[in-house]
Amino acid sequence: MARKNRRRDDEVRPLGPGYASRTVESHPDGDWVVQRISGQRAVKEYRCPGCDQVVAPGTPHVVAYRDDDPAGSEHRRHWHSPCWAARDRRGPRTWRGR
Ligand SMILES: [Zn+2]
Repeated sequence: MARKNRRRDDEVRPLGPGYASRTVESHPDGDWVVQRISGQRAVKEYRCPGCDQVVAPGTPHVVAYRDDDPAGSEHRRHWHSPCWAARDRRGPRTWRGR
């Protein structure tokens, strides 16, 4: 029964070299898949939906999307770490219109 040991390989397949391990966080508006991106992995500019400012390359930040969204990984957003931490106070309104 060698197959038993191989099953997990598929489940934990990495998304790519730029992504750290994912965690699921529970928030008032649901569960979110959260990835912490290190500064050296952040090579592009992103627009933080929390403060509407640029997440500059080289800035450690957070990537998040809803766990219950079937296309969640396509809708993922890049947040400043403090903005993500403060998100529960702001509410989900910044997502409207996307
Ligand atoms: Zn921000």
